[in-house]
Amino acid sequence: MKWYKLSTEATLQKIQSQTAGLTKQERESRRMINGPNKIEEKKQLNTWQKVAKHFTDLLMVVLIIAALLKFLTGEFIEGGIIFLVVIVNGLVGYWQERKAEESLDGLKQMMGQEATVLSTGQPIQLPAEELVKGDIVLLKAGDVVPADLRLIEVHDLTVEEAILTGESEAVEKVITVIDKDSSAGDQLNMAFSGTLVQTGTAKGVVVETGNDTEIGKINHALQSIQAQTTPLVKKMHQLNKQIFRGILALIIFLLFFTSFRYGMDWNLMFAASIALIVAMIPEGLPAVLTMILSMGVKEMAKENAIIKGMPAVETLGSMTVICSDKTGTLTKNEMTIAEVVTEEMEIVKEIMNNCQDLKTQDEQRVEAIQGNPTELALLKYVAEENQKLKPIKGKIPFSSAYKYMATLHSNKQDQIIFVKGAPEVLLEKAQLTGAEKAEWEKQGLALASRGQRVLGFAYKIVESSAELTHDELTGLTFVGLAGIIDPPKESAIRAVEKAQQAGISVKMITGDHKATAQAISEQIGLKHTSKILEGADIDQMTDNDLAEVVGQVDIFARTTPEHKLRIVTALQKKDEVVGMTGDGVNDAPALKQADIGIAMGIKGSEVSKQAADMVLADDNFYTIVKAVKEGRRIFDNLQKTINFFLPTALAQGLIVIVALLMNQPLPLTPIQILWVNMVTTITLSYALGFEKASRDTMTRPPRDTKTGILSGYSFFRILYVSLLIMIPAYFLSMRFEGVALQQTILLQSIVLGQAVYMINCREQFDPAINRRFFENKFLFISLGILFVLQLGVVFLPLGQQLIGTTALSLTQQLVILGNALLLFFVVEIEKRISKGIFRRKEKTISQYQND
Ligand code: ATP
Repeated sequence: MKWYKLSTEATLQKIQSQTAGLTKQERESRRMINGPNKIEEKKQLNTWQKVAKHFTDLLMVVLIIAALLKFLTGEFIEGGIIFLVVIVNGLVGYWQERKAEESLDGLKQMMGQEATVLSTGQPIQLPAEELVKGDIVLLKAGDVVPADLRLIEVHDLTVEEAILTGESEAVEKVITVIDKDSSAGDQLNMAFSGTLVQTGTAKGVVVETGNDTEIGKINHALQSIQAQTTPLVKKMHQLNKQIFRGILALIIFLLFFTSFRYGMDWNLMFAASIALIVAMIPEGLPAVLTMILSMGVKEMAKENAIIKGMPAVETLGSMTVICSDKTGTLTKNEMTIAEVVTEEMEIVKEIMNNCQDLKTQDEQRVEAIQGNPTELALLKYVAEENQKLKPIKGKIPFSSAYKYMATLHSNKQDQIIFVKGAPEVLLEKAQLTGAEKAEWEKQGLALASRGQRVLGFAYKIVESSAELTHDELTGLTFVGLAGIIDPPKESAIRAVEKAQQAGISVKMITGDHKATAQAISEQIGLKHTSKILEGADIDQMTDNDLAEVVGQVDIFARTTPEHKLRIVTALQKKDEVVGMTGDGVNDAPALKQADIGIAMGIKGSEVSKQAADMVLADDNFYTIVKAVKEGRRIFDNLQKTINFFLPTALAQGLIVIVALLMNQPLPLTPIQILWVNMVTTITLSYALGFEKASRDTMTRPPRDTKTGILSGYSFFRILYVSLLIMIPAYFLSMRFEGVALQQTILLQSIVLGQAVYMINCREQFDPAINRRFFENKFLFISLGILFVLQLGVVFLPLGQQLIGTTALSLTQQLVILGNALLLFFVVEIEKRISKGIFRRKEKTISQYQND
């Protein structure tokens, strides 16, 4: 349907609606026919394809081939067990992926978009999904258009349609009919679903919803949550590939070595190759890491930090700077007028009452009005006067970019313009002598220095034919100042302290006056409060100049959203990982540029929420700090999981390699190695993901993003732990007679060694056994399951038969346990020593930096 070719009246008639909107009943009955206003996402893969995906990666294919070969040679038990391992691994992989997807899907629902519609004349808020054809939608700057609309009323409406047309310049919209056939980009009387309102306001009637909208036709999910992998998981995949290549090279070397030295035993080599591949590639690790990350996303949502993708979880843990708005984020946004400086109170009050966006009828009680807290403060101040509203004829809405608001009213024979806004802007436009201006500035500064947000008031009488434009605002009569208090949130004060303890610097970027900003900064405890950069200063600086000073400044005052972008970029130039808050439509570029763009769930515009990586459901600064803590906890757990996985993999591999080099029979059969792998995959691999935050999580500096996945220290740890698991176990087993017994001892030693080492890994450097030992229930459940499974293979006849094990005596078990405990204590002592060394290093570095 070419709605743009119809007049507004014809459109309303065709769609059976009217300018006052639909009634509730009408909307409900239409919704039954219409269905939800939602774009069906194309399912990328169906369940079977998803399951199949986990059986087709290289390692699985190798195992499947191995199993088939075993079947062909008549070794059914071995073949069967290899198949079992393949199936368990594949299903576990699928389950992990589904879990990760589920937690992200849950978030999508939480981020549902809202729309304002008219219901029998009254504006109401609705989830955008509930819109039906015929609904009358109100648009304002910062909104994302919720459906395809034929516009029926516009005021300076410009819309950015890049998502549809690729054109990033905003388009000015009209309501007039367009006669000739036009593509979406030229349909100027339409507003399309998913496009962004840059300026102005408008009213439009919904003509298409869901899949029938322009954006629906190209099937582009609006609030798509990115499930992309994170840098760490990517590195892990790469590492796996390298390990795989390394093992192939090793197998080839062993093939040559053993056949030259001892003569080739194909059967042995085949078994050994499978054992090596299975044992040494931590194939499940990327999936485990992904799952830990997705659980983190869910945890953060519970804490009111809604994360849009897993990479953000990782980045949060390394954040070094938080740039925050002041109003509403650090302060309560409960504004009250503290002082008014004027000799013409009557006219000031009249401006307060009329030059505003909230009150439209005299009968409205101020307690019932919601909206911009600055204007509410003014309305409350004049509420008792019972002044009548002057009929309004024009308006320039407030914008942080020019920092004032003006309205035009009829006034007897002529007209009057009321202006309120930042005093220095108004004083520039006022008719004053130098001395008068200086006096007002002094008064304003006095208010601001007490932490008050200062507004100036002015008016101008104009002819009855005059129109309200920015250019008309000259020669104003300046009449007074009001100081508004907006106290800091107690939680923000605590959060700023916490962030600073965690080595994260907090910077405040505000549109307010620098004296106000400074006073509030002192109250909330920012560090560098003596040096302040104003928007105008930043304008004078080159990007390089700004980058040089930006680190030492914590207060940026009288800024516009454009300055935020420059500040982020400057900080990033200095290798900072930057979190930046924003709520307005113009904040989107800065939010996108920041490493973590943070939008406000309550007062933020839809556009800012779309641009952000994280949305604060409670608009609270404290939530950012909580999210950082969670991000650090998760990253620690990822690191712990890696530290746990790799040595145990290496230990198993070493056993095979040493045996081959010494021409000994394989100490463990491939089946036994598969078993060890499978039980630990099922039980031990997740447990560390549930570890609570360590004590020092928020007292140590942010993680250095430049270090790779494996530090020199990690290599050291992997090597010695794997040797410590393997060597005692090997020699112990050799002291006994009988293959089955030797193998059982070895198997049990490795499994127990892994279990114990997992407990070591709970804390990276602190003692593993501490007061919070029992907090991670999951760890004990895992150990419990592992225990039962091991009992099964060591003592149950069926288990013994399948895996080739035999029962152990009590003494044998105690010796194995003793070995494991030895490992535990050695690792604990090593951690302690390493911690001391790292501390000393840190100290010398900080000394060096201070000098
Ligand atoms: P922050 O960035 O910390 O949230 P802010 O967004 O409140 O600060 P702005 O909204 O840009 O900062 O306000 C800047 C200045 O504009 C204020 O100091 C005040 O003088 C003036 N101002 C704020 N709100 C209004 C309004 N509704 N009408 C007129 N002037 C306003």
